[in-house]
Amino acid sequence: MPSPFDLHSHSIVSDGTLTPTQLVEHAAAQGVRVLALTDHDDIGGLAEAAEVAARHNIAFINGVEVSVTWHKRTIHVVGLKVSPAHEPLVKGLEAIRAGRHARAEGMAAGLDEIGITGSLEGAYSYAKRGIISRSHFARFLVETGHAKDISAVFKKYLVKGKPGYFEHRWAELDGAIGWITGSGGVAVLAHPGRYDLGRTNMATLLAEFRELGGAGIEVVTGSHTPEQYGHFARLAHQFGFLASLGSDYHGPGHGYMDMGRLPDLPPGCVPVWQDWPEAEAIH
Ligand code: AMP
Ligand code: MN
Ligand code: MN
Ligand code: MN
Repeated sequence: MPSPFDLHSHSIVSDGTLTPTQLVEHAAAQGVRVLALTDHDDIGGLAEAAEVAARHNIAFINGVEVSVTWHKRTIHVVGLKVSPAHEPLVKGLEAIRAGRHARAEGMAAGLDEIGITGSLEGAYSYAKRGIISRSHFARFLVETGHAKDISAVFKKYLVKGKPGYFEHRWAELDGAIGWITGSGGVAVLAHPGRYDLGRTNMATLLAEFRELGGAGIEVVTGSHTPEQYGHFARLAHQFGFLASLGSDYHGPGHGYMDMGRLPDLPPGCVPVWQDWPEAEAIH
C-alpha cells in the first residue's frame, strides 16, 4: 500500500504544470489523504488548493519550498504548516521572487549571446501565475527545438558552466528557517540526497540545519532511491530529525514521481506529522 501522505508538490504557481485545483484533484484520484502544496518561493496557490482539498476530503497542509544558498550551493528547505499571512515569510519570499526576475534576465542575456533570442518572453509565457524558474526556460528551449527533452536541455544550457546558467544568491539558511518557524511552521530539509555532498559536508549541513531550528528531513521523496530511504532514515535518527515524505510531483509527464506511489517511511522514523491533528484519521 502506498503512503496516503504527500508533503511535497508543485503547481503552476511555481514550475508545476497543473493549476492548484487540478493538482488537488489529481492527488485525490491517486489516493492522497494528507497533501502539502510546496511551490518554490511562492505561497500564491495555497488558498485555492485548500478550498478544493476541503471538497475532496483531503487534509491540506500549507507549504512552501524555499531556495537557499548554503556555502555556494543551492539547497531547498520545505516549510510545512506555514502561515501565509506571516509578514517576514511574505516579504522574504517576495525578495526571492524579485531576485528570480533579475536572474531570468541574466539567463536570457547568456542565451542571447549564443544566438538564442526571445527566451525571456518565451520562459515567461509558461510562468503566468507565480515565479519564473529554469524549468520555464527549459520548456521554451524544448519547444523551440534546442534540445529533445527537459533533461537534455538542463544539461546543455541550464547548469553551471552552460550559457543559460546565471550565478545567483538565494536566501540565507537561517533566514529561511526563521521565516518558516516564525510563521508557526516546521522546516524540513528537502531531498538531501540530491545535493551531492560527501559524508562530512552532509553531516555539517545536517548539524547546522538542526542548530538553526530545522526539525525534519525528507527521507522518502520522489528523488531518492530506495537505498537512500534507508540511508536518510538512519541520518534522521542520528541527528534527531523528524522524517518527511513527498513525491515532488510537478505534473503529468514531468519526469518526477507521480503522487500516491511512494512507500511508507522506513520503520524507526518519527514522522513529521506525528502530532498533527490532520493525520489522526489516517491509519
Ligand atoms: P530554479 O529554482 O529556477 O533553479 O529551478 C529548479 C527546478 O528545475 C527544480 O525545482 C526542478 O524542478 C527543475 N530541474 C532542475 N534540474 C533539473 C533537471 N536536470 N532535469 C529536469 N528538471 C530539473
Ligand atoms: Mn521544481
Ligand atoms: Mn527541490
Ligand atoms: Mn520541489
